[in-house]
Amino acid sequence: MASIADTLRSTYDSGHTRPLEWRRRQLEQMKRMLEENEAEFLDALRTDLGKPAVEGFITDIAFVTSELDAMIKNLRKWNKPERVGTPLVTMPAKSHLVPEPLGVVLVIAPWNYPIQLLLVPAAGAIAAGNCVVMKPSEVSSATSAALGRLVPKYMDPAAVAIVEGGVPETTDLLGQRFDHIFYTGNGTVGRVVMAAAVANLTPVTLELGGKSPVIIDESADLRVAARRIAWGKWLNAGQTCVAPDYILVPESKQDALVAELRTAIGEFYGEDPHLSDSYGRIVSPRHFDRLESLMAGGTPAVGGDTKSDERYIAPTVLVDVDPDSQLMAEEIFGPLLPIIPVTSVAESIAFINARPHPLALYVFAENKSVIDTVLTRTTAGGVTVNGTLMHLTNPNLPFGGIGESGMGGYHGKAGVRLFQHLKPVLTRGTKLDPSIAYPPYTARKAKIFRRVL
Ligand code: NAD
Repeated sequence: MASIADTLRSTYDSGHTRPLEWRRRQLEQMKRMLEENEAEFLDALRTDLGKPAVEGFITDIAFVTSELDAMIKNLRKWNKPERVGTPLVTMPAKSHLVPEPLGVVLVIAPWNYPIQLLLVPAAGAIAAGNCVVMKPSEVSSATSAALGRLVPKYMDPAAVAIVEGGVPETTDLLGQRFDHIFYTGNGTVGRVVMAAAVANLTPVTLELGGKSPVIIDESADLRVAARRIAWGKWLNAGQTCVAPDYILVPESKQDALVAELRTAIGEFYGEDPHLSDSYGRIVSPRHFDRLESLMAGGTPAVGGDTKSDERYIAPTVLVDVDPDSQLMAEEIFGPLLPIIPVTSVAESIAFINARPHPLALYVFAENKSVIDTVLTRTTAGGVTVNGTLMHLTNPNLPFGGIGESGMGGYHGKAGVRLFQHLKPVLTRGTKLDPSIAYPPYTARKAKIFRRVL
């Protein structure tokens, strides 16, 4: 690991990654890698997560290529010094914010969207002119192997490295000096990453998880809500950081909501979702066992069946939920959806505010004042109103968490800015050099200072 970090640092120090042409070429090569090996990547995603090819294409291929297209298109603009105003007393002078790369960046990714969550931050780091070490998740081992084989074939090995492996390799990497660490995964490891970063005062971005709630208001369109919740929940078999974790619904609407969710599941995945080509699998036996035991926290109103040999868990809606169960204590990160009846929106807000800030929050309502109340009285990494997940698909909305759900945001321009230092530069002219600015501080000068400052 030390020799990888040393190689990249000397590449960075040589200025190799500074020219925009080098950056453009690397971003284009990353895009070519995805396009020319799409079938291999989709196969790997199917092996790891039973990911339907359409889902894999949308979330792990097209998502990345559209981010790459935006970075290539805006490369010059997003790396251009920005002129800012200069106060009168500093004149004659010009002021600029000059974006400069940070140096060598480490990107550590998880297994649930193993291509997107590795390549999008890495691309942002490259577009900003950095060297990058990418560490894919060992849990999605087939995708890690494909990336491990293809990245060195397409990308400049002097500046872009990929290290496969698990805890020992990541620990070793974290012992090296980096100029930024971008970590996506759970909060326990997020703390390990942040503690390691302390040694070199390395800034970190932590993209973590948590229990993302859904508030359903009396005024909500239940059919639309159920379809949008079902899509966001059972995509990738619920293994999405921003998947709806639980639903808070008015008591009087609970049965109707369950019925609409049952209908949506039937429409999306058929009578037996196990046979559906559009439904994924749990990533590992360990996660399967964890989810199966979480099910004890409620009663299945829809789904509930499992097949351990295939790591299959049906899209499951749980009612009569025990608020003190593990189901309501940890992030579910799987296809179980607990429903909790409430008597008012105020109760929903209090429920959410009694817990750590979530990565995402969803509110379904036609009543605008309810939406405004929820937005002003809760905090979350991001929000979609009358939908799920969609806020993270807009590159103009930086994506990230707050508090326990993380720190820092990326996507679009924010995903390049994250890996730049905006260096303030003030350049003075030399034609005028009034002596008023210099000692000795006479009474006359003091009077002028008091007037102009
Ligand atoms: P994971 O087990 O793949 O771990 C993530 C990375 O951390 C891997 O590369 C792994 O090798 C490394 N790692 C694991 N243990 C380590 C240790 N002790 N020291 C150093 N490195 C270690 O993935 P995960 O954590 O199970 O991912 C799921 C979590 O990630 C969920 O909480 C989910 O919400 C969150 N997540 C967040 C986002 C986001 O963008 N905010 C996206 C996806 C997932």
